[in-house]
Amino acid sequence: MQITKDKVVQFHYTIKDAEGEQVDTSRTGDPMAYLHGHDNMIVGVEKALDGKQAGDKFSVTVEPSEGYGERQEDAVQRIPSKHLQGAKVWKPGMVAVVHTEQGARQVTVLKVGRFMVTCDLNPPLAGKTLDFDLEVVDVRDATEEEISHGHAHGVGGHQH
Ligand code: ZN
Repeated sequence: MQITKDKVVQFHYTIKDAEGEQVDTSRTGDPMAYLHGHDNMIVGVEKALDGKQAGDKFSVTVEPSEGYGERQEDAVQRIPSKHLQGAKVWKPGMVAVVHTEQGARQVTVLKVGRFMVTCDLNPPLAGKTLDFDLEVVDVRDATEEEISHGHAHGVGGHQH
């Protein structure tokens, strides 16, 4: 079965930066699952997966414009430290999770004060050209419920 709109795709990924350094991988857990054709996946990866099928293994280089976006130099904000999740003690360079109206997002700690932490709101991978090693694990038809919700359910997708 080929990956087309309204298919639920499960895939493993390993992301490397321009220096070949591994920055993220799904290999330590379940594959990622998403609903194809609904803007749930970064553009460069979704384009590369289009038309592929289970078992396909390949690599793709993704520019920031089709990846995590360009860095916004003014995206710096002071956030109360009690709103940061992921650690008890914060140090510059650590990545924290903040819950916003748009959902959870990752921020990078720049400076730690007594009650407030100065954070860079850019996604940690923004502005980077990245190599994705991809392996398609499974392709199936989405359920009507998944299509109406606009996302995949089950392992690697949304849990309701
Ligand atoms: Zn749902």
